[in-house]
Amino acid sequence: MIIILVGPPGSGKGTQSKIISQALNVPYLSTGDILRSEIKAKTSLGILVAEFVNVGKLIPSYLMNDVVKHRIANDDCANGYILDGYPRTVDQAKDFDQIIKPKTIDIIFEFNVSDDILIKRVLGRFSCAKCGAIYNEYFHTTIEPNKCDICGENDFVSRMDDELETLKARINDYHSITMPLLDFYKKSNKVERLDCSKKIEEITESILKSIKIT
Ligand code: AMP
Repeated sequence: MIIILVGPPGSGKGTQSKIISQALNVPYLSTGDILRSEIKAKTSLGILVAEFVNVGKLIPSYLMNDVVKHRIANDDCANGYILDGYPRTVDQAKDFDQIIKPKTIDIIFEFNVSDDILIKRVLGRFSCAKCGAIYNEYFHTTIEPNKCDICGENDFVSRMDDELETLKARINDYHSITMPLLDFYKKSNKVERLDCSKKIEEITESILKSIKIT
């Protein structure tokens, strides 16, 4: 099963993809995470893309297509995968159709949420440096101050690009570049729109209903 998640930063794609990946037993691939780990490891790709990712600009599509093409050729993707963050433009969507041929995308989830909520979600986001648990200072902080609920760690990280100006640029990019992507996909009747101002569990339920595994 090939599932695509489309939505602005902070709309909950990362959270939902982890849950549905477990429910379907297929990997979830976040192109943002892949690029950030390349940057951290200072690979040649990482060095090349750092100047884009660190300021929230899209990396060139030919690089992105290549990364995805190689990743989905891995054995763990044989039964399907969830893509978070790709395709991000109409051109990438057309390239992706060619890359996966003769397979086709099964479903595209549109994560719909207002810009106001997004800003709070993204600016408030931080995660445990040890186990990766995700928190938000506005909506879901740690039970005890400065102590991870899961592993007790007191070291937390927030993303470098999670600053207001960068965030606004990313939201603008989303509206101007990614919205046409949804128009492109809507022609295929495979787009399911999710109201992502709802609770995490409610959104998960809608997703699982759509892929008919509840
Ligand atoms: P994300 O975590 O999905 O918001 O992605 C973080 C950053 O990675 C983006 O701001 C881009 O710099 C880069 N990136 C991720 N996915 C793509 C893509 N499909 N096309 C181009 N750049 C991407």
